[in-house]
Parts: sequence; structure tokens; C-alpha cells
Amino acid sequence: MTAGETQALLETIAEMLANGLETTTEPFPETDKEFADILADLRRLDPDDLEGKLVISGFVDHPYGPDRQRCMECMYYLVHRRWCDLPELAVPVEPDWWCRLWRI
Ligand code: SF4
Repeated sequence: MTAGETQALLETIAEMLANGLETTTEPFPETDKEFADILADLRRLDPDDLEGKLVISGFVDHPYGPDRQRCMECMYYLVHRRWCDLPELAVPVEPDWWCRLWRI
């Protein structure tokens, strides 16, 4: 993906979230099994189903919860690329976004 394509995808996702896309933020996966179940749901999607990815993983365009969790502190976030490196997602993300696959 070129830098321009990445930027365009980031803007598309930002627009979908800003337009009120309802995503599945709860329940947060408390166990490895619950986490793996969400990954399994993501793997069943068509690879081009961007909306499905955002909905299943519970994307929001702001920090989330009492701890104000965000992509910036997630183990899957690549700071210099502004990218989510979780293979099942593999999308550009802003540092202050969040999804329920957040991990440290
Ligand atoms: S897994 Fe979720 S919280 Fe973590 S970087 Fe990716 S989108 Fe952000």
C-alpha cells in the first residue's frame, strides 16, 4: 500500500466513525479465549470488508473507558506508520483511537 493509499484509507475510516458507525465496543475480551474468538470472527470476513472489521473489533475515534485507553499505548500500534499491526486488522489508525482488541 502506498503512502497515499494509506492516507486515503485512514480518512475513509475516520469518516465512517465520524458518521456514527455503531461498532461492538462491548464486551471487552477478558480472556485469551474471548480475544481469540473475536480474531476468528474477523478471519471469517471478506478481506475487503472494512466496515465488518471496524464493527467486530469495536473501533471508536477517541480514547475509551475509565483508563482512557487508546491505540498509542497498544502493543499492536506502530507509531511511525500510524498503523495497527494486528494481522486481522492491518489498517491505518490514529494514536487516540481505540478498539476492544487493545493490549499491552
Ligand atoms: S489492536 Fe485496536 S487498539 Fe490496538 S492498535 Fe489496533 S486498532 Fe488500536
